[in-house]
Amino acid sequence: MNQQSRGFLSIVVPAYNEAPNLRNAVETLVNEAMPLCDDLEIIIVNDGSKDATAETLLKLEAQFPQLRPINFSRNFGKEAALEAGLEHASGDAVLFIDADLQHPPSLMSSMVQAWREGADVVNAKKRDRGEESAVYRLASKLFYRLFSQATGVDFKGASDYKLIDRQVADAIKQCPERARFFRGLVAWVGFRQANILFDVQPRAAGESTWSTIGLIRYSISNLLSFSSLPLTFIAVVGLIMSAVSLLLCVETLVRYVMGRSLSGFTTVIISQAAFSGAILLAVGVLAIYVGRIYEEQKGRPLYIVRQKSVRDDKSISTVNS
Ligand code: UDP
Ligand code: MG
Repeated sequence: MNQQSRGFLSIVVPAYNEAPNLRNAVETLVNEAMPLCDDLEIIIVNDGSKDATAETLLKLEAQFPQLRPINFSRNFGKEAALEAGLEHASGDAVLFIDADLQHPPSLMSSMVQAWREGADVVNAKKRDRGEESAVYRLASKLFYRLFSQATGVDFKGASDYKLIDRQVADAIKQCPERARFFRGLVAWVGFRQANILFDVQPRAAGESTWSTIGLIRYSISNLLSFSSLPLTFIAVVGLIMSAVSLLLCVETLVRYVMGRSLSGFTTVIISQAAFSGAILLAVGVLAIYVGRIYEEQKGRPLYIVRQKSVRDDKSISTVNS
């Protein structure tokens, strides 16, 4: 990109049941982003919303020429929505932002500025975690500590509010895995990264869609897709167990030779229980990874599009609302 042109900016917005937020979000994004670039597209990915998100998008599309909606056939999750946005974006830079405006759009100008100054990835990091409970804060701290150790990348305060250069977008598109973790992939591909701090805003309307169980599952899944540390861990446990059992064998043999064999089965039972536990743990961890391989090898698409923008010729025939 040369100095004179301000480039083509794509903004990707995942949206699940965000009908009450969309008009405000689109207006704010257009107002904030138009002065920052020559060309703008806003790709709103409707992730199988059950509310009026699809209808609202149709109305907004008629009003805002920058809007390019993508409607999924069902709810595929935020990660799939981010990926769909990335695949459909054609900008020189792609910016990812939540539809509920918890990510302050006013930060976009400094993010674009940092990109112009040479950063390939601009991460907006959470300074204040907003309305999150103490338990949630602790759990996310623990997860990010584990994740940072497993991947060697600092994830403190990481969010999905990011701007990435075209080169980075193309690099991420080359990662074929189905179990996706956008934040992890952006860190993994490398390039020149810059960080900007922000305070999480309260949700404009509606409720967060994350349940506690859902968050735990998401965290474990992300850890597994970026690290084989649990496999190493069970191998180490196995090694320690073998060493302990060898010592026990030697001790038993010595006692036997000296004619001081232990009576009773306590040691046998305890060591048996410890081994059974370790074996079950090992089998369990292996099973989780095998399950992962099974999911990946099916090679199903990450998401299915029901209908794209009405401006997109190919999809006009499928407009059914
Ligand atoms: N989202 C999505 N699919 C989902 C859940 C959420 O596209 O299955 C979107 C949602 O509309 C929002 C963003 O992902 O734009 C973040 O979701 P949310 O606000 O529920 O999460 P939180 O801010 O609590 O992390
Ligand atoms: Mg939110």
